[in-house]
Amino acid sequence: MEKVFIKALPVLRILIEAGHQAYFVGGAVRDSYMKRTIGDVDIATDAAPDQVERLFQRTVDVGKEHGTIIVLWDDETYEVTTFRTESDYVDFRRPSEVQFISSLEEDLKRRDLTINAMAMTADGKVLDYFGGKKDIDQKVIRTVGKPEDRFQEDALRMLRAVRFMSQLGFTLSPETEEAIAKEKSLLSHVSVERKTIEFEKLLQGRASRQALQTLIQTRLYEELPGFYHKRKNLISTSEFPFFSLTSREELWAALLINLDIVLKDAPLFLKAWKLPGKVIKEAIHIADTFGQSLDAMTMYRAGEKALLSAAKISQLRQNEKLDEKKLKDIQYAYQNLPIKSLKDLDITGKDLLALRNRPAGKWVSEELQRIEQAVVTGKLSNQKKHIEEWLKTCGQH
Ligand code: ATP
Ligand code: MG
Repeated sequence: MEKVFIKALPVLRILIEAGHQAYFVGGAVRDSYMKRTIGDVDIATDAAPDQVERLFQRTVDVGKEHGTIIVLWDDETYEVTTFRTESDYVDFRRPSEVQFISSLEEDLKRRDLTINAMAMTADGKVLDYFGGKKDIDQKVIRTVGKPEDRFQEDALRMLRAVRFMSQLGFTLSPETEEAIAKEKSLLSHVSVERKTIEFEKLLQGRASRQALQTLIQTRLYEELPGFYHKRKNLISTSEFPFFSLTSREELWAALLINLDIVLKDAPLFLKAWKLPGKVIKEAIHIADTFGQSLDAMTMYRAGEKALLSAAKISQLRQNEKLDEKKLKDIQYAYQNLPIKSLKDLDITGKDLLALRNRPAGKWVSEELQRIEQAVVTGKLSNQKKHIEEWLKTCGQH
């Protein structure tokens, strides 16, 4: 048994010693069987949320009505979820109500994919009622039960299936793929926030190329914000190695660039995905920097981070791999700029007021900008004495 499970064993034991059933479930069991790095260790139990709260000293109620309590143990947090079935799916979204039950098998049955529907006992035995192991061995993504039914219950599962293709390099089972093509328009009922989480994970997966091609083939992409008229661009976008990028901002900038979304349309596109304002601003800034020549003023305006992000995206559009040396050279060139911001100028607005003996006005910032440009481009050295000299002669309006 892996270290992360051993670390979590006391939580299982406490539940079991109190007379309950408790298992590791979901992604951690899948990743363990696949010998991948294990993410969060989730626990399922027949203990009711109130009972879970009583058994542990440190808990956080994150959705008791859905059965989930977070248990803090050592320096870790574990989601402990009561076995449940989901009923009353409204509008092809998540259920409005859940029922707590006592059967592990029933709990596993409501999970989306066979590979995500396995459990592990406290002694490391994997319980696999729906052929998860076999599907992992054959690298197949398959729903638990009939795909049409499962997608009608919760349409996000279609996008999740393609997201796992991307992360694991698996293919969809033929029935699962057919059902996505058939039911794809149901995805429009799902909240944007849930789609965004899955789509970002899809882009970052090693097999994003196959996943994006599946989005195209099944036409599921038509239900993604801003994608409806982008089929052609999406085909070329699928070749881009998004997994080589590191931040959300880079990811969305690369998407804007590859989909050929002009800057004017970028805010609306990114807002449709309900991204945080900061991500939107930075992604657009990177996309704006992309494709500009690497002169001093462009580098200065871009700032180090956006400059390197834009350079990375530009390289990845030409080659599968990054040229680390070239990136270092660009970083070096940036660091050698005479100033990095207006604050670094050896003269201030106050100095200008005194020097010109004129009342404050728009002219101050205009003059500062002229000095800034002359210093950045190396026409003027950043020393007060020289700047004052310059202002007296060629610096005049
Ligand atoms: P990751 O490593 O990306 O977190 P994960 O398998 O843990 O992958 P989560 O989104 O964290 O995925 O979900 C945890 C588990 O909950 C899944 O493994 C699956 O069993 C179940 N699950 C999540 N979303 C759904 C859904 N929409 N329908 C049914 N079951 C789901
Ligand atoms: Mg998870």
